[in-house]
Amino acid sequence: MAYQLNDRIKNLTPYKPIEGDFKIRLDANESFLTLPEDLQTKVQNAVSAAKLNRYPDPYATRVIKAFSELYGVDKNMVTAGNGSDELIQLIIGTFFDDKDELVTLSDDFSMYRIYAETYGVPVSVFPKNKNLEVNIDALIDYINKSGAKGVIFSNPCNPTSLVIDERHIKRLVRSINALVIVDEAYMDFADEPVLDNVKDYDNLIVLKTCSKALGLAAIRLGFAVASRQITKALRAVKSPYNVNAITQAIGEAVLTDGEYCLDCIRKIIRSRDMLYNDITKLYIKYDEIEKVYETTTNFVFVKTPKAKYIFDELLKRSIAVRYMGDYLRISAGSKKENAEFIEAFEDILKGIED
Ligand SMILES: *Cc1c(COP(=O)(O)O)cnc(C)c1O
Repeated sequence: MAYQLNDRIKNLTPYKPIEGDFKIRLDANESFLTLPEDLQTKVQNAVSAAKLNRYPDPYATRVIKAFSELYGVDKNMVTAGNGSDELIQLIIGTFFDDKDELVTLSDDFSMYRIYAETYGVPVSVFPKNKNLEVNIDALIDYINKSGAKGVIFSNPCNPTSLVIDERHIKRLVRSINALVIVDEAYMDFADEPVLDNVKDYDNLIVLKTCSKALGLAAIRLGFAVASRQITKALRAVKSPYNVNAITQAIGEAVLTDGEYCLDCIRKIIRSRDMLYNDITKLYIKYDEIEKVYETTTNFVFVKTPKAKYIFDELLKRSIAVRYMGDYLRISAGSKKENAEFIEAFEDILKGIED
């Protein structure tokens, strides 16, 4: 054989979302909202004006300006990425080498560990407690003892939906000689951001995405906010034209409409509160639901020993949610989608009890 894949990648398999057409998709934490007509027109005009024969702006200047104004951050501390996934991959792949340990938490977003393994970065896993909460003092101790080069986690957390207080995160940043990467993909639905604090610390990176609250998962647009030193390095290691012209145009059109963005967030929070309340009612009625976690995101995390069975039964009814071991993760949908999900969920729970 002339060529052998290296050990790190030879057994990897491509990411596989749930396949098939489902009537209701509550499996990927996407937004259920679509653009209103006037904004749709603005987006179409922006796309029409894009010069398709030219390379896009390598620094995504206009969309970064729109993002910076919307979130009140210094535009010189922002790097745009082809989804925040690209930025996670870049940071792990270029800020760490094969001796630099990266600490991840468990349970948390699985891509952190997968990217680290792909790039040969040693990963260690700090466990959460049985309530899926993070003991920050223990984490600080753990990092200081291990001499790790960095730690990455989502806050609020996907999949637990729990949030760590801002003051705890700041204490972590101040207490370790390591890079702290906080993925705030869901912080629009919670109120413990450390985005504002990036200017105070040189060892903090905050990641944001347009895929969740702003309903733009399709265009792949995310941002890393960090010190100028880190930003300079990130901009240098990224591929020059990582954010395409269409994405830049659409991102700018939507991010400059602050009122629309806030309205999306309010509507999604209303939907997830409704979903949480309805699932909690089922929790009171049916023993098979062991726990419903407090939600600070756009989804609800549920513990049940019957997770696999319920997941399969929901699929039969053309409703997709995310199945994870003893848990189900259900994204907030429209009023109608939530209601149909709840009806099917209750029907399945009833069937188990009979
Ligand atoms: C959805 C999600 C992202 C999203 O990333 P994009 O690549 O910007 O779509 C990042 N982090 C977490 C924890 C997520 O759940």
